[in-house]
Amino acid sequence: MSGIDDLPPLRDVIAQHRLAAKKSLGQNFLLDLNLTAKIARMAGDLTQSDVLEIGPGPGGLTRGLLAEGARKVLAIEKDPRCMPALVEIGAAYPRRLEAIQGDALDVDPRAHLQSPIKVAANLPYNVGTELLVRWLTPPTWPPFWDSLTLMFQREVAQRIVATPGSKAYGRLALLAQWRTDARIVMELPPEAFSPPPKVNSAVVHLTALPAPRYPADADILNRVVAAAFNQRRKMLRSALKSVSPDIEGHLQTVGIAPTERAEQVGLEAFCALARSLART
Ligand code: SAM
Repeated sequence: MSGIDDLPPLRDVIAQHRLAAKKSLGQNFLLDLNLTAKIARMAGDLTQSDVLEIGPGPGGLTRGLLAEGARKVLAIEKDPRCMPALVEIGAAYPRRLEAIQGDALDVDPRAHLQSPIKVAANLPYNVGTELLVRWLTPPTWPPFWDSLTLMFQREVAQRIVATPGSKAYGRLALLAQWRTDARIVMELPPEAFSPPPKVNSAVVHLTALPAPRYPADADILNRVVAAAFNQRRKMLRSALKSVSPDIEGHLQTVGIAPTERAEQVGLEAFCALARSLART
């Protein structure tokens, strides 16, 4: 018995199924079920939602999500060694866990889930940012999910919530803050994981806004922001040369000094620039 359910403690699960952590899969497991239940609570009331979890591993967070009342959890795990442990969790929570063995970058979860959908995950470091960018840039908005509750390396979490003028401010902050409310809700030291990673971690909670914070065409905004931050030390008039032959005119029209650098420019101004470019 482990405190939140009648299943064995995670150390026993890992020993029984021989789940020695693999670095190549970003395996740093959370073993404290009180902590995983706390992270599950950060996702909000789960009782009326389906939850998508990427990388359940031995199932610490999965058990937290189920114990906190998730209507259903869809867990996508790349490592086949973890599947027997997930089958045992499924037996303890009948009809509420579907575990798929596969790469989260290849599996489309939408056919397996019903709205409202929340995403909660202690993400593998090697695909975490790519998954986040995909979730933030669907073809249409609002997306299939209502909220994302995600563990990242702290440095990535800081990039998501960063504001202009800070070193961490860039494309990820703008992508996230354009269409979500994003905040860091928990910080964790390396010792919270087994094995401990080299860096600190943080949980970010992102709530999808019903519509983008400021109007702009998503493709144009992405293109402008990518070009601006690819050469973040350059003045915008040269960093954005490839975007329009009259970039200086557009910058002036929307009140951005052409000599500014990308990291000084806020989201609202980037959206105004994207709208000005869309008019040409
Ligand atoms: N959720 C577990 C926990 O909190 O203890 C494990 C988290 S561990 C940081 C990341 C998990 O993602 C590992 O179980 C790993 O095997 C899995 N993983 C790695 N790459 C993946 C991918 N592309 N698709 C799905 N799962 C992946």
